Formats: sequence, C-alpha cells, structure tokens
Amino acid sequence: MPVPVSELAPDHVPAGLSEAERARILAKAALFAPPPGRLGDGRCDLVGLSRAELVAELAAIGEAPFRAKQLWHWIYRQGVTDFARMSSIGKPLQAKLARHFVIGRPEVAARRTSADATDKFLFRFRDGQEVETVYIPDPEEDRGAVCLSTQVGCTLSCRFCHTGTQAWARNLGTAEIIGQFMAARDAYGEWPRLQAPGRREAETPRLLSNVVLMGMGEPLYNYENVASAMLIAMDNEGIALSRRRITLSTSGVVPMMDRCGAELGVNLAVSLHAVRDDLRDELVPLNRKYPIAELIAACRRYPGASNARRITFEYVMLKGVNDTEADASELARLIRGIPAKVNLIPFNPWPGSRFEPSSGNAMHHFARIVMDAGFAAPIRTPRGRDILAACGQLRTESRRARQSAQSSPSPWPSSMSA
Ligand code: SAH
Ligand code: SF4
Repeated sequence: MPVPVSELAPDHVPAGLSEAERARILAKAALFAPPPGRLGDGRCDLVGLSRAELVAELAAIGEAPFRAKQLWHWIYRQGVTDFARMSSIGKPLQAKLARHFVIGRPEVAARRTSADATDKFLFRFRDGQEVETVYIPDPEEDRGAVCLSTQVGCTLSCRFCHTGTQAWARNLGTAEIIGQFMAARDAYGEWPRLQAPGRREAETPRLLSNVVLMGMGEPLYNYENVASAMLIAMDNEGIALSRRRITLSTSGVVPMMDRCGAELGVNLAVSLHAVRDDLRDELVPLNRKYPIAELIAACRRYPGASNARRITFEYVMLKGVNDTEADASELARLIRGIPAKVNLIPFNPWPGSRFEPSSGNAMHHFARIVMDAGFAAPIRTPRGRDILAACGQLRTESRRARQSAQSSPSPWPSSMSA
C-alpha cells in the first residue's frame, strides 16, 4: 500500500536523499507554487484536497466528518460538480456547501482531434496559465491513456523536446493535475452513473483506463503535487485507478525516484536517450547532476520491478546521434539484469527542431540488438503528430507571452495549429 503523503513526517528523509538535496528540491517547488485553492469570492475548491483536508474544511463550517466521505464519493466516484445533484445530501446542506465551496475543473480552452483519433486538450487554469493534455485511445481495444502535464513549461531543457523551449512558468497544483483527468472524463462522459432507483453503478469507465505522467514538465520536480494527485486517483472510493495503470516518466531525478517508489509504487518510465555521459550531458542536461551510473542504480533499486512490472526505458531515436549498433549494445549492457523494456521512440519533430528521426533501418537494427539481449524493444508508432500531440511536441504560450499576442485568432499559437 502506498503511504499517503499526509502521513509522512515533515522531516521524513528517504534513503539516498540528503537533507540538503531535499531542501533544495522542496525550495525549488515552493518558488513556483500554483495559485491557492481559494477563489477570489472566498469559496474553496474541494478538488485536490486530501481526505483529511476535506474533513477540516467541513469542520470549519460546522459539518461532521462523515460528510467528507459522502462528498468524496460524489466528487471522485460520480464526477459531480454541482452540489444540487448530490441526492444523498439534504437541500439545505447542498445550498450551504455551494456557498462555501466549488468543485472546480480546468477550462477547456481548445480541443483538437488527430487523424489517428488522438485528442489534445488545451486546459486553462484560474490564473490564465495553460497546459496540454493528450488522450491516446488504444487502436485495438476499448481503452486508452490520458497523458497528464505536471508543470507549465519545464526547467530542464532537453535538446529534442518542444516543452523545454517554452518559458518556464510554474508547477501545477494537485487539483490542476487530477483536474486534467477529471475534465477528460467529463469530455468523454466517462463517469459511472447511479442508476435510479436501485442505485447500482453503471459500467466502470474503460476508455480512460490509464494515466501516463508524460505531458509537459518533469513530474519529479513537482513531486508533492504529483503524489497527492496520484493518491487521489488511486483512492478506492473514488477514481480507483490501480497503481499498475499509472506510469510516471522522469528524465532522471534520482533522489525522487526512490521516494516515488516507496510512496506511490507506480510504474516507472525513465527517459534514457543516450548511453554515454558525454552525449547524455548534451541531450538531457540533468545528466550532469545525476549521471547514467546513478540513474541505472536508482532503477535497480526501484521497488516492485519484476517481469510483470518492468521499468520502461524511453529512447528517442535521433538520426546520426544516438542510433548506432554500438549504442544498442551498450544500452543492453547497461540495463542487464533489470526487469525492463525499451521503448524506441522515433524523434517527433516540432517547429524549429534541429534533429531528424532515425531511419527505419537504423531503428530495426537497434531494436534487434536490444531484443537479442532479452529485452522487449518495440518501435513506437507516433500518435497525434499531425496536431503536435506526440511525445515531446507539447508546448503552450506562457501567460505573459499570450497577452502580447492577442491578435492570434487561434487559441494555440500559429506554430502549433496543425
Ligand atoms: N519530463 C518527463 C516526462 C515528459 S516528456 C521526461 O522527460 O521523462 C515525455 C517523453 O517524451 C520523454 O521520454 C521525453 O524524453 C520524450 N520526448 C521529448 N521530446 C521528444 C521528441 N521530440 N520526440 C520524441 N520523444 C520526445
Ligand atoms: Fe522537460 Fe521531459 Fe521535455 Fe526534458 S523531455 S525538457 S524533462 S518535459
């Protein structure tokens, strides 16, 4: 069972994380905090609160703790945003709740659908900042993954990533992270509905069956908010997503990988992309802080990794840069003994990008070498490229930049409107 973040002692320091490191990471997160959960009119957004915080908000208006359980069910199980629809709560209390609280959602500022049915949402938050969220339906089965963003921009400038080129704005809050998933469920009508009069739940949602934390931002540089959002997603009385259906992708924030494993136990994806430090220092500059050997060691100690729950190594295939047979052999050597699979991602171009995707031939040779070493190594089919929704193509204007570009008729900057 994952340990709720709220139950961790404030001075909890997981193995491998020094006080100085922890303080540095937390200070960085605090500097770019999201807007407060209270609206200008004094009402509090209940989305994103932990159960304990919900109980406290209710106590502050004189309501008993059992109401928190009721509200949790309506908010996270049924997806209700209007207190008047909470039939297990009397009318006078519904009205009182509406005076003090809201159940918020990010605003859908735009939505585009790719030729391959991938759906990209542009979500706008209360302070005007925006992120993109992508829904990727499984082409064969009745399921799909929602790719959530965790930051507005990213402080890490990986050379091949569009998000890394936008102005850094801030971290997303818990409500904004879980809110992307909830708003996507709204858009697909994917909440279980109570069937009157027997109050049996309708079929469990399936289309939005998985969550991948692979959108804009580095989730482990906004760990606290990501963790509380995922604990909400996993809560059995609400969205009830199994941790096996959640995958967190990191560019390699080594100390926080340990914490993520201990507290959340979600699937881990690691953006490796190069097998030599000199090259990875260039492509993924975070490597200068946490080099390959440390990253691989953190993968080896990631809890729960087994053949059934493999760590995914993501490897973006860049023509003439990281795609030789020697690279493939070294990759297989590096990860030997780790229950792992390797996702080979053809580079997804974006306006102004300097790389090219590797040739089909190079990718197949590369894959063959990794497979011969005993690892699955699928070459991923890019999804949503035509609407700039594929891996590494997401980018939004920062709020300030947006205001100075009021003349643009499209909610997306022209470079992004496919
Ligand atoms: N910051 C996290 C998660 C978001 S990026 C991380 O870096 O892991 C999600 C994935 O897209 C990462 O594996 C990233 O390396 C990859 N990616 C970034 N730009 C890309 C591009 N142009 N083409 C293909 N994959 C890309
Ligand atoms: Fe940030 Fe991930 Fe893009 Fe690197 S690849 S700039 S860590 S979002």
